[in-house]
Amino acid sequence: MPHSRSRRPTPLHEFQLIETLHRRYGATGPNVVRGIGDDAAVVTPIKGHELVLTTDLLAEGVHFDHKTATFQDIGYKAAVASLSDIAAMGAKPDYLLVSLAIPPSRTASDIQRLYRGLMLACRPHGVELIGGDTSASRQGLFINIVLIGSTKAGRALTRDGAQVGDLLYVTGTIGDSLAGLRLLSVRPGTKGSLLGFKTGSAQGLIHRHLRPTPRITVGQLLSAQQLATAAIDLSDGLSGDLKHMCEQSHVGAEIERDALPVSSALRRYADMNTVDPVDVALQGGEDYELLFTVAPRHRKTLEHLGGQIDCKLSCIGIIKPEAYGLRIKDHSGSVRRLPMLSYQHFHSNADNPPEGSWSR
Ligand code: ADP
Ligand code: MG
Repeated sequence: MPHSRSRRPTPLHEFQLIETLHRRYGATGPNVVRGIGDDAAVVTPIKGHELVLTTDLLAEGVHFDHKTATFQDIGYKAAVASLSDIAAMGAKPDYLLVSLAIPPSRTASDIQRLYRGLMLACRPHGVELIGGDTSASRQGLFINIVLIGSTKAGRALTRDGAQVGDLLYVTGTIGDSLAGLRLLSVRPGTKGSLLGFKTGSAQGLIHRHLRPTPRITVGQLLSAQQLATAAIDLSDGLSGDLKHMCEQSHVGAEIERDALPVSSALRRYADMNTVDPVDVALQGGEDYELLFTVAPRHRKTLEHLGGQIDCKLSCIGIIKPEAYGLRIKDHSGSVRRLPMLSYQHFHSNADNPPEGSWSR
């Protein structure tokens, strides 16, 4: 529905919303026996495949903020958080269910923009919207995403398979999203217009924050070619997510400071703000890159693969025995404990989120 300034915003009606969603997104493929419109969705399972299921709950003021993101941005990122989980499992994302609790201040077009963002992220991967639920909210907007994916039986990438001696890889560059969020937070309300920051690299960092890329193709390739022993997506930050993977695998790790992939935009941002770009990279969450481990004998194959896909793969360290813990080596060769800089819910810092951002 077009939103014109001369007209009053269309109020939200639950059944009209569902009807609109059905009309816009209801044309599904042959594997969806029943989508939006019935009591539950019905889909045909793929023979020889396993289901991969993930859900994310996003709360206004905790995971997103209308001051720094539009409804379309919020929808896009909500989808990416779940798509990235499916990517980290090496699976293919198939179906989406979306539940919303909507405060009275929100209009029909706000919610339609949210869905536009959601589907913008999902469509390139062939994900179909097959249902959800809608409620009123008295305390801000809540978005719950359920994403259903599939993988060949026994091929899911898990967090617990890293072995001592495996090489540690990361996709893309890290820390960009946090720098982008900081840029946005300097001038809340600009929503990307960036007064005072009209440089290409600042725009690029903000884009990385608002429109991250889920690494679906890389995840599926790693799974199909059985190259990775373990994988996790970087939603909380490298130090914390590496810790999760190492704990589950009962191993330690050593990463090299100089090997961390830092974009030139992040370097420029760090110069301007006299911070260390590697600290931003270690801390930064919401990059939605993949962190994965590979047996050394697969190094050549992996690097060959890296040359064929549109995504940089960087070797950032090596898996060590559990007793070694997590360490970081600097350019002089000296090694120290890896500082834990990632954000945690329900920790003392949760009362005052430093960045007021997503997935935190
Ligand atoms: P019920 O009363 O059984 O929960 P609803 O009226 O809530 O049924 O839902 C009717 C149909 O609309 C269902 O197919 C449901 O999955 C879909 N639906 C409801 N809300 C949403 C939403 N926010 N997004 C997508 N589909 C929705
Ligand atoms: Mg319902």
